[in-house]
Amino acid sequence: MKAGQSPANGNQSYRAELEEKRTGILRTLGAKFDIRAAMGRVAEDDQAQISHEEFISLQRNSLDYLQLRLVDEALSRLDAGDFGICQSCSDPIAAKRLRALPWARYCIDCQNTVAEDLDQEWRSARPRVAVTA
Ligand SMILES: [Zn+2]
Repeated sequence: MKAGQSPANGNQSYRAELEEKRTGILRTLGAKFDIRAAMGRVAEDDQAQISHEEFISLQRNSLDYLQLRLVDEALSRLDAGDFGICQSCSDPIAAKRLRALPWARYCIDCQNTVAEDLDQEWRSARPRVAVTA
């Protein structure tokens, strides 16, 4: 038998919350697919409008997918027993933060560092604008 390494009690309530969130996202994504199917036969005149709406819907979808991935990762951390542990520094994530964001991957300090790193990466990945004098 494994030693009782499982972190805080109350993980069950995080699990319930994460699963509820997951169901909600899947429902939202499913509803969007229904709308897209229903829009299948629309007059050509409406095409421009639909493209714009689809564009916005796609942007929202990718946010939903990102959220879904974070929620899935948190659920597998619950299974693995390292839920609530910062993925960067291995410190416990503050309970207050977990209650607000049960899918949080990092403690607040690391989240700030990671956000800065990503920002820098994004900046350096951008093509330089050539300025010709
Ligand atoms: Zn950390």
